[in-house]
Amino acid sequence: MTQTAIAHETLSRATENQNAWIEIDLAAAAANVRALKATLGSVDLIAVVKANAYGAGAAILAPALEQAGADRFAVVWPHEGYMLRQAGVTRPILVLGHAFPADAIPAVRSGLTLTCNSLELGESLSRAATAAGVTVPVHLKVDTGLHRFGLDIDRAVTLATQLRELPNLAVEGLTTHMANADEADDSFAAEQHAVFLEAARRLPWIPYRHTANSATALRREELRYSGARIGLALHGELPANSPGPGLTPVLSLRARLARVSELAPGEGVSYGLTWRAERPSRIALVPVGYADGWRRGLGNHGTVLIRGRRCPMVGRMCMDQFLVDVTDVPAAAEGDIATLIGTDGPDRITATEVAGLADTISWDVLASLQARIPRLYHRDGAVEAIAPSMW
Ligand SMILES: *Cc1c(COP(=O)(O)O)cnc(C)c1O
Repeated sequence: MTQTAIAHETLSRATENQNAWIEIDLAAAAANVRALKATLGSVDLIAVVKANAYGAGAAILAPALEQAGADRFAVVWPHEGYMLRQAGVTRPILVLGHAFPADAIPAVRSGLTLTCNSLELGESLSRAATAAGVTVPVHLKVDTGLHRFGLDIDRAVTLATQLRELPNLAVEGLTTHMANADEADDSFAAEQHAVFLEAARRLPWIPYRHTANSATALRREELRYSGARIGLALHGELPANSPGPGLTPVLSLRARLARVSELAPGEGVSYGLTWRAERPSRIALVPVGYADGWRRGLGNHGTVLIRGRRCPMVGRMCMDQFLVDVTDVPAAAEGDIATLIGTDGPDRITATEVAGLADTISWDVLASLQARIPRLYHRDGAVEAIAPSMW
């Protein structure tokens, strides 16, 4: 992603002539790191910045999180780890997902910690590490009941014992992942924990243990272990059923009204004319659509903030634009800012609220936001970087 460093520009000036943009509040992200670290105490904060940091842009956000005190980083693809190194991240980077033996050489070169799920991968890493004259850490994932990535307990113990014998390889971490972390009833975590404890009992020599995502870390202190893998909470959004340590939302999505038009009673809007005016109405055009990751299901369901007031979305969501009813905000005019996610005056729309209306989850709403919308990284309104660059 190309990016531009901007000096001495304010958010309001930088967005004067923008159809739509995303604001990433780096001061809020840093405050969230501090709040989470205060909750975690001596437990490492492992910042999960997979999927381009949930849409916020890992190249700028990850170094800011590191500066704010994140102890380690985690991604899912090896290539994401490489990108983090390119962005200047120096702390340990753990690859949570699958890697091929062919990934060993670039992974060693980038100083990545892979999750090792086969002897073949371990041997490749050992060879690459020996050639490079370094010792490389690996983590082992135990499948304790999610039945996603990882090894069942017997295979994990066998592989750990084999990997331990390989030169220049250090089996550093033992890990698992919870299935019901943010469900109202997360009691299955206790069953998974029992399996994990059994693995840890059989592999007492593996020093670093981690099992928790945001929800588990906030709800179950006994599952924090050496480090908590925190993704969503860094963005100031909370998983369901989780107590918050006072987090601040990081991401805002805004757009400028491209047109305000008058409708007579009976006239309809957008494809299929699924919404029709029941009174003389004023309709505003917002230049964001489902191609930007703004869910099509929000058409006729969502609201946006204009001049601090909630305005209902009307008609079907289009690929690049949608409509809102601004009849009750008489001052609304072309060029006004519409807030799709974020604060405007006394009101705020969270990704969690949007997710509820779009029949999905906040992770999905954030991670779906597409690259067409420029990200402006700021502290207290002073822009520090823009990616991808705007013209
Ligand atoms: C994505 C992910 C996390 C982070 O989850 P959040 O709910 O966003 O905190 C943690 N661990 C694993 C294995 C993941 O894939």
